[in-house]
This record gives sequence, structure tokens and C-alpha cells, in this order.
Amino acid sequence: MKITLLGTGTSVGIPSLGQLGWGKCNPQNPKNKRQRCAVLIQSNNTNILIDAGPDIRNQLIDHKLPSLDGIIITHEHADHISGLDELRPFYFPKQEKINIYTIERTANFLSTRFDYLFNKNEKSQSYFKPPMYLNIINYYDEINFNDINIKTIKQHHGVIDTIGLIINDKFAYCTDVVNFPDDSFNKLKNLDTLVITGLRSSPHIAHAHFDLTFSWIDKLKPKKAYLTHLSPDSDHDTVLSICPDNVEPAYDNLYFNI
Ligand SMILES: [Zn+2]
Ligand SMILES: [Zn+2]
Repeated sequence: MKITLLGTGTSVGIPSLGQLGWGKCNPQNPKNKRQRCAVLIQSNNTNILIDAGPDIRNQLIDHKLPSLDGIIITHEHADHISGLDELRPFYFPKQEKINIYTIERTANFLSTRFDYLFNKNEKSQSYFKPPMYLNIINYYDEINFNDINIKTIKQHHGVIDTIGLIINDKFAYCTDVVNFPDDSFNKLKNLDTLVITGLRSSPHIAHAHFDLTFSWIDKLKPKKAYLTHLSPDSDHDTVLSICPDNVEPAYDNLYFNI
């Protein structure tokens, strides 16, 4: 099973628009160019996407996927959902609705913001059929897509909670998190690979900063950990130089097998 980190940047990407630009990142290092966070999980016959931010079309186009078997949305922040509309072409060949999986709060937000993707109403063109279906899940539910098993956990992300994911009991993806309930944290112990938020050096109200993430990794003891959701303050080589031995900053299109 192949895991590809399609995007590893914080909400504005790197470089960002405006004066912030590359921030403290070296523009000469291609690993510093970061799109918004998303992950592709591929087994022989199944493709699952985690999140669909504003870069999702560019992130998926070279993968030439024939179909998507499910999309899991971790939470409703714009950097994780703004590209949902771009996925409509996966509906076209068979006119089978694309299944979105998320918690009720996020589902309600999506069905308001992207009303036309889920609901037919009097404002819709007569030929337009809503291409997506919302499947509501609860934290700690388990979802199976053929040979891909996904266990979900609850994570604290400032004023809201987000979904973390454990894939086939080997790999966990924990983005947009600043604190974990104990029940969630304990499920992350001793995995092969952990991809986890590491925003920047200084503390943030909604995202773990490096020292906090390193303290979690020290307790969780994954064989390998990668930092994601990196901000323009976080130059790849500078972050690498402060990482413990089994930790590295991720970069876009990094992939590994589980
Ligand atoms: Zn985010
Ligand atoms: Zn967020």
C-alpha cells in the first residue's frame, strides 16, 4: 500500500501570496515549495483521499487516478476543503456519487458551503446532478475500503476538534492538532510511521509547535515520524537540523509503503 503526501504546507502554502512569500524558507530548495495538506492512500484496487484543499487538482493530476473510492475530510477549515469542487470529474464516467466521510459538524458545513455538490434544489440547472454524498461518521469509528482499514481518532485543534486517522494499524496521519484526548494518544503508540503537525518553532493556539510535537513523538515511539503542515517560518533544512534521529520534515510528494 502506497501513501503519498500530496501537500505539506500550512493554510497559506509556501510561497504564500503577498509580502510573506517564502518567509524564512530558502527558495532554492524545492522541498520548501509546499501545497496545502492532503494525502493519497493507494492499494492495488483502491484509492482513498484525505482532504481536498485549494491545490487538489494540481496535486492529483499527475497520478492519473481512474476513480476515487472515498474522501475523508479531517475538518472544515478552508485549506482542507476548498478544492472539493475539483473532484467532480470522478463522478462523470459511471454517474456514481463520490463518497465523502466526515463528522456531523463538518458535514453540515460542507452541505451549506457546497450545497450544489450534495443537494438538488430550485437553483440547480436541470441537467446538473449532485455528484457527491455525505457519509457521517463519529470519532473512533472504523471504516473499511477493501483492503484499507481506517480507524479514526479525535484531536483538539483550538476551538474545534479534528479527525486523526490510523491506517492498517501501521501508519497514522495527525494534522491540525494541538492536543490529544488520552484515548486518542494511546492509540498512536508504537506505529511504523507517524505523519504529524509540526507548524513552526513558536507555540500556536491551534497547531503543535516543534518542541510539543517532539515530546509526543518521544512518548509514542513510532519507527519514523514526518512533520507536516509547515509554515513559511519553517525552512526544510533548518527544521531537519533540530529534528531527533527518527524525525524529518515531510515535503510534497514524499511517499512510502506500508
Ligand atoms: Zn490546516
Ligand atoms: Zn485547521
